[in-house]
Amino acid sequence: MNNDTTPSCQVSDIYQCARCGFCCHGETTVSLDERDQERMIKALGLSREETSTRYWRVTGSVVQMQVRDGHCIFFDAEIGCTVHEGRPWRCRQWPLHPSMLADENNYRTITESCPGFKKGLNYDEFCRIFKALLEQGAAGKFGG
Ligand code: SF4
Ligand code: SF4
Repeated sequence: MNNDTTPSCQVSDIYQCARCGFCCHGETTVSLDERDQERMIKALGLSREETSTRYWRVTGSVVQMQVRDGHCIFFDAEIGCTVHEGRPWRCRQWPLHPSMLADENNYRTITESCPGFKKGLNYDEFCRIFKALLEQGAAGKFGG
């Protein structure tokens, strides 16, 4: 039996971020819930108003990050995410989304868009490791 100090699986058994930046590109970003907003404000050390003005795109009740040159305003080609500690939960979760366990098509779609997944792993083996990681409480600690 394993204990907390000797986990049976590691995130690197299925995935390691290649820092390609693909998931930070696009004309929109993930949306930020209230906790995301508070975490980002704290990480930036700015007021809510200043954070919003400088970094957010607010449409009604939807808060997203601004986009610059086709990518999230916090993405830097050299550094990657420049607000790493304050990034939204959806960024933290990506690319190990639990929907991949429910449907192999989701697994294929996500692994085709993210080069960080370990090559040569079959779907059953991936699911076995991913489930073990979730049971170990590693969810939300994956983000690249
Ligand atoms: S999570 Fe995947 S798509 Fe995003 S930067 Fe890392 S390797 Fe690239
Ligand atoms: S907050 Fe960071 S991880 Fe999320 S999209 Fe922006 S640059 Fe990428």
